[in-house]
Amino acid sequence: MNAKEHISLTDQFGRVHDYLRISLTERCNLRCVYCMPEQGIVLRPKSQFMTTQEVIQLATHFVDLGVNKIRLTGGEPLVRNDAKEIIEGLSKLGVQLAISTNGILVDKFLETFKSAKIRSVNISLDSLNEEKFNSVTRRQEFQKVMSNIHTLLKENFHVKLNAVIMKGVNDHEIMDFINFTKNHNIHFRFIEFMPFNGNKWDWNKGLSYKEMMERVNLYFPGKVIKLEDKKNDTSKSYRIEGYKGTFAIISSVTNPFCDTCNRLRLTADGKLKNCLFSQNETDLLGALRNGADIKPLIYESVWNKKSVRGGMDTFEDLSNSDLNQKNRSMIAIGG
Ligand code: SAM
Ligand code: SF4
Repeated sequence: MNAKEHISLTDQFGRVHDYLRISLTERCNLRCVYCMPEQGIVLRPKSQFMTTQEVIQLATHFVDLGVNKIRLTGGEPLVRNDAKEIIEGLSKLGVQLAISTNGILVDKFLETFKSAKIRSVNISLDSLNEEKFNSVTRRQEFQKVMSNIHTLLKENFHVKLNAVIMKGVNDHEIMDFINFTKNHNIHFRFIEFMPFNGNKWDWNKGLSYKEMMERVNLYFPGKVIKLEDKKNDTSKSYRIEGYKGTFAIISSVTNPFCDTCNRLRLTADGKLKNCLFSQNETDLLGALRNGADIKPLIYESVWNKKSVRGGMDTFEDLSNSDLNQKNRSMIAIGG
């Protein structure tokens, strides 16, 4: 059997890929410490990135091959001038459409989200404390983000909040984050700090799934209810008894969810990454511009996907900076 004989996007380990995350840009209106290298990233000419039409054309190829869910991400997807046109174009592909955003521009896109049937909005929120939030994001947008989160809730969007948990930065806020789910129908996700190019990763700065749950169980004895996770979920979900919302932990460092991975990533410059941690990329945009057949390239990339974290099978591999620094920075991948 070879890569071309499959109809669905199946890899050598039998994993079917039906979920595509498209990064719309490497630019962002925040500078989160764990994502954007301190010195920023080199901004490249616009011609190196997908145009409105190219995003839609490439997405259409994936949909033809069985992709049924697309999430827009970045950088900050909503800073693109044509974000509205892209969302409208993708909404015609008949897939479930979702978005990850830092929330700053959400109020300007509410009608676009509604008409594109985007119901699920993920927002980064690393602190409930204004000063702390502003120091992590190196900007002053806390009030705007909080106000937009409340607007989304009022409008009945399904809101997930993401916090990258870092020791001495926001780990003391885990219980505040969980208490935020008491009266809000919100899903708060705590992400283990992951290594990417230029983010000064050191596992001593991170908090593991196990450490987080030990603290939670100590704080809410007998009240932590484990919820059922869906097959492709990358997180372990919980609810505190009587609370409206839920919380979860994404443990890509200590306990990766690679066995059931169904995700592919398209970077803003049109490269297919078959894994968040993969160092290999397939240049779909170049091929599209040369009039080449895109589908065999997609099959090939999926077929060659490694079983675990782009080949970094063990925690030691992932911690090895020779390996983990070969990947792009998160801002340039699209989280
Ligand atoms: N700008 C949007 C946002 O902030 O949600 C979308 C892009 S952002 C790269 C997507 C997600 O990646 C965010 O939830 C962010 O917290 C997460 N992320 C970025 N760098 C990370 C890291 N080093 N470890 C874990 N998660 C990270
Ligand atoms: Fe921007 Fe999102 Fe990265 Fe923060 S996590 S710098 S908001 S892309």
